[in-house]
Amino acid sequence: MRIYTHPACTRHDPGPGHAERPLRLVAVTEALREAFPDALHWEEAPRASRGQLLRVHDDALLALVLDTPVDGPMALDPDTVLAPGSAEAALRAAGAGIAAVDAVMHGEVRRVFCAVRPPGHHATPSAAMGFCLFNNIAVAAAHACDKHGLSRVAVVDFDVHHGNGTQAIFDTDARVMYLSSHQMPLYPDTGYANERGVGNIVNASLPPGCDSDGFRRIWRERLLPTLDSFRPQLLFISAGFDAHKRDPLAQIELESGDYEWITRELVAIAKRHGDGRVVSMLEGGYDLAALREASVAHVGALLD
Ligand SMILES: [Zn+2]
Repeated sequence: MRIYTHPACTRHDPGPGHAERPLRLVAVTEALREAFPDALHWEEAPRASRGQLLRVHDDALLALVLDTPVDGPMALDPDTVLAPGSAEAALRAAGAGIAAVDAVMHGEVRRVFCAVRPPGHHATPSAAMGFCLFNNIAVAAAHACDKHGLSRVAVVDFDVHHGNGTQAIFDTDARVMYLSSHQMPLYPDTGYANERGVGNIVNASLPPGCDSDGFRRIWRERLLPTLDSFRPQLLFISAGFDAHKRDPLAQIELESGDYEWITRELVAIAKRHGDGRVVSMLEGGYDLAALREASVAHVGALLD
């Protein structure tokens, strides 16, 4: 199995005290190297091209992220910071997903995990928000459709926050199904069950305090059967680990083993319909110990 990452992804520094900090990625990559010293093939993520980004974002957002001169952290909103290393990190994070799609579609590997930051799923066509600059997973899913001609692509999002950006990008694009479980109420206050796109958006909310049983029940009874009947040719995972019980930004009580469980379920569906092809990308997760455990549980299940 392949991992795409890049040192530039640790050089996006939103500043002291920010939850979305470089050490998050260090924790994930160190834990994976320790847990799987031989099974993972590490590759450097290329940069996404402007054309690849423009499939899901507008010119103004590209200009803001890539062309703004920054000599120190600059707040784009109360959560989201553009700093001197941010443009390069954002290009590598989005480029990881592009490379991952090409690798699985060319049959080089079946499953890829992109260990990248900044995260992506809150970035909309026109706005960076919620720690996210470009929507990495949407850039990758659009590449799968446009470059590789896929017509049934699924983006599964178990980050504790709703991926409003991913939903906004695809809610009129029937080639892409977006399925999310997320805590409500919580930032960004989207992801209600009545947000259905063109029938391709499936949102399931979790109440604060929801534990493993509640999480697994929603996936087993609602989300996984819907995903299975969509028969995805390629399955993307927005792998945020902030529904873990240790996470400081939300109140869902998942154990690390829940990430192994959901990943196994998703891999089984990918094997039924998409030759086992899965591209997973790191999103949130703000407790370093939880990030270590959960990412090892997730990648271990991707490995089989
Ligand atoms: Zn999150």
